[in-house]
Amino acid sequence: MGTVYLVGAGPGAVDLLTLRALRILEAADIVFHDALVNTDVMAIAVRAEKVAVGKRCGRHSTAQRFIDKRLVDAARAHRVVVRLKGGDPSIFGRAGEELRALRAAGVRCEIVPGITAALAASAALGVPLTLRGVARSFAFVTPRHGDGEAAHDWARAAAACDAGAIYMGAGDAARTAEDLIEAGRCGTTPVAIVTEAALPGERVEWTTLRHLAEHATAIGPGPALVLFGPQFTAHADEAAATASAVDARRYCG
Ligand code: SAH
Repeated sequence: MGTVYLVGAGPGAVDLLTLRALRILEAADIVFHDALVNTDVMAIAVRAEKVAVGKRCGRHSTAQRFIDKRLVDAARAHRVVVRLKGGDPSIFGRAGEELRALRAAGVRCEIVPGITAALAASAALGVPLTLRGVARSFAFVTPRHGDGEAAHDWARAAAACDAGAIYMGAGDAARTAEDLIEAGRCGTTPVAIVTEAALPGERVEWTTLRHLAEHATAIGPGPALVLFGPQFTAHADEAAATASAVDARRYCG
């Protein structure tokens, strides 16, 4: 019986993989990977058979129970089985379901942490996620819930923290912003939208909660993370000032 490693691939850039992830990928016999995982990261697993099992928003996806079964079967046939997930496997990565299925089948499994999108976004912005005297608590949240999963009050949880990162929240940005404002966050809360963090197409948009929806429609394709919190104030103000200066120039012809 082999071991299944739930490996964090990080946000995309190969040099943001951990050394442990690199070592395990090099030794892998088979890799089950998500749609979001970069092909450069996949290329490290030179010996491995590669199987795409990603769930991609709005596209046909492989059912979770089928993935669980394939992992168990692979552990019976191979020594090193890798389940490669974008970012960190334990952040909105369905690691819970897979670990449960593997443990129930008596399969040895291990988590290999990765750099989650919020950390890559913080680096892209040059702004820390916690800031002494300004942001002492930080929420990892998502408005998205799985099939059959009861809706939860993610916005109340997010609003209770000083700052936060909203995963899978840019697609329905109007609703995301509305829910946070309803939960008590002020419409002027500074917001950053980071698209394709740590990838060649990395983009940053500064805005406020009230204007999140209009900015989100302009961000284009690629995974996007919405960050909010008082530590982003200086940048959001600067961006707003630049935008109004540009608008004024346009107005003056
Ligand atoms: N386990 C992953 C998150 C999976 S949920 C992690 O730890 O990062 C997928 C969501 O993560 C996307 O919808 C997006 O909100 C965010 N995301 C993943 N990669 C990203 C990237 N490179 N840049 C910005 N957001 C990203």
